Amino acid sequence: MKRKIWSILYFIICATTLTNCSFEDFFMFSASANLNNSVSTSTNSIQSSSNTQSSSNTQSSSNTNSESSNVDSDIKIYDELQFHFMELGVYNTGDATYIKAGQTDILIDAGATAASSETLISYINNYCEDGKLEYVITTHSHSDHYTGMFGNKKDFTDFKGNSIERTGIMYYYDIGTIIDFSFTTKNIENPTGEYLNYINARNYAISKGSKHYTAKECFNKENGASNSYVLDQNLNITMDILYNKYYFEKSNDENNHSVCTMFNYNDKHFLLTGDLEEDGEKEMAKYYDGSTKERTLPHVDLFKAGHHGSKTSSNDCLLSLITPDICCVCCCAGSSEYTNDNANVFPTQEFIDRIAKYTDKVYVTSYLDYQESIKQDKQVFKPLNGTITISSNGQNVGISATNNTIKLKDSDWFNEEIYVVDDDGHDTICSGKAKKDYYNQDTKNAKLIKRRTWPTY
Ligand SMILES: [Zn+2]
Repeated sequence: MKRKIWSILYFIICATTLTNCSFEDFFMFSASANLNNSVSTSTNSIQSSSNTQSSSNTQSSSNTNSESSNVDSDIKIYDELQFHFMELGVYNTGDATYIKAGQTDILIDAGATAASSETLISYINNYCEDGKLEYVITTHSHSDHYTGMFGNKKDFTDFKGNSIERTGIMYYYDIGTIIDFSFTTKNIENPTGEYLNYINARNYAISKGSKHYTAKECFNKENGASNSYVLDQNLNITMDILYNKYYFEKSNDENNHSVCTMFNYNDKHFLLTGDLEEDGEKEMAKYYDGSTKERTLPHVDLFKAGHHGSKTSSNDCLLSLITPDICCVCCCAGSSEYTNDNANVFPTQEFIDRIAKYTDKVYVTSYLDYQESIKQDKQVFKPLNGTITISSNGQNVGISATNNTIKLKDSDWFNEEIYVVDDDGHDTICSGKAKKDYYNQDTKNAKLIKRRTWPTY
């Protein structure tokens, strides 16, 4: 027995020396690792062997970013409130944020592909023991946010083992309350395709007892909805549905319909605005003019970058009100999914220029491996930070991730040199949107540039 104790002590001393962390950190990690076997430990050299996210759902084998020596020193995981920004193991950019607040489970969006739902289910089931998601929020009706809500059509069983016809989150879990967008640009009279799948999924959940409110109903406290939900009575964690002009009127831009939420735990605040665009952010900033307590946005510890770090979101009108400490970006960094213009692929240079005024703690879920993509002549994506977990005990905020916690500005992806070709004043990385022919040293007229720059203010 004595020998065992000495062995354990010896292991702890070795581990804390190796990882450069304090004894307090080590014990926090040990406790959390037992609870949550999907989070990584405090350095890149020691990584959880049972990382369900990376091992089953990503192609990662040798992320060069994990070899850097620059490691964030304040890695911690608190149990009370956790935000998991999911790296879903696909090339497609997409949002899915799983939140655990005390015993309350919340999912905001469900990823870009039908297979995302099964990835999410296997992750969430590590945390959610009763098969109930108390709140599910669909921010807006874009495929990169709601496809996992309805999933694939196939014979499947839900959490309780009952047969279901689709793999979607809205079929698999018992859902307390669904909150979603007030408007859509989709045809609501004759819904078709993905939108019809979503409506059917939502109707299925409602038929099983879920309540459903639009963001407008929440904000106006209509039909039994509320603009503020207590997520944990003892811990006093709340979720507010924030004002967005486009709960009340239709926008031509689907992104502006996004449901916006603020989570509060003592004086710690966490803001998620979906894909809200500049227009929506300006209207939000106008509403929260500081005239009353209700119309004041607090300083936030966490801001999920608007619209995957696009150049049209996370504008100063909003950032100057919330002055974020940490910013998480859900995207596949450097992929040509939406554009071949280097400056505008996610996370964009303009976004970086704006967020850098407030924080350098910017983290990103996935990236496209430029060198490997050229070598293999296909899009090779890997976790950048991986699934990022931001957590709080009401006094402190911790950062953890399944791959590493290297800040974006220090990552190999950010500092890599790539070949670009000038196209009418734009540095392009391949011949077109979603193309896989990334330029290299053999490309005619190609020049080598540093992919991103971190501004100095
Ligand atoms: Zn999106």
